[in-house]
Amino acid sequence: MSRSRETEYKCPYCGREFGITVYDSVETAKDPDLRDACMSGDIFRHSCPHCHTDFMVQNPLVYIDAAHKFVIWLSSQDTGADLSALSGPLDAQGYKLRRCKTLKEFTEKIQIFEDGMDDVLVELAKYDSFIEYIDNKKGDPSSVTGVEYQRADNGVLKVNVRTDDRGMSFLIPVYMLEEEIETNKELYEVDNRQFPCINDEWIISLFMESSGEA
Ligand SMILES: [Zn+2]
Repeated sequence: MSRSRETEYKCPYCGREFGITVYDSVETAKDPDLRDACMSGDIFRHSCPHCHTDFMVQNPLVYIDAAHKFVIWLSSQDTGADLSALSGPLDAQGYKLRRCKTLKEFTEKIQIFEDGMDDVLVELAKYDSFIEYIDNKKGDPSSVTGVEYQRADNGVLKVNVRTDDRGMSFLIPVYMLEEEIETNKELYEVDNRQFPCINDEWIISLFMESSGEA
């Protein structure tokens, strides 16, 4: 069951209080509509009944997809809690366990896992695409506003590198990424039970460490 609660919230614009519904967990098998509300961000969107301003409240949320076997813990902060009692049994059942810091990371991660893709491989593809964009275009890294996973079709992964004015798409065969990971397997290992953040910061940190710059 998905879990929600009613709570009093103080409007950041007019300062008046009103009641909002906050979801602590979402189980997609029971509540497929809530999956869509997570993807659109509507689950975090609220409207003040006094001043009618819309705004987002990104509260921590546990997202459980039993069909695709993953659990994402959306939380900007690592609480430092020992999660082994929770994560051990899920890990044993083959669940992928991840923490996402932002809504953008969260929705992308849901898409990656629903597509049956390995997110380590996707982050590597995003990193490679970014490097290739910088190298080929001689572009300024600061002009890049985002590197996004699009989809995977017939063993080819599509990544978009977005910039202020325009972007560029990259198509990368999955087998090439698998080979790249295979040659340096230990580098890409993650401890699933710790709800690791597998994102751009993570992949950059791997290459900083391996080149001794960290
Ligand atoms: Zn208000």
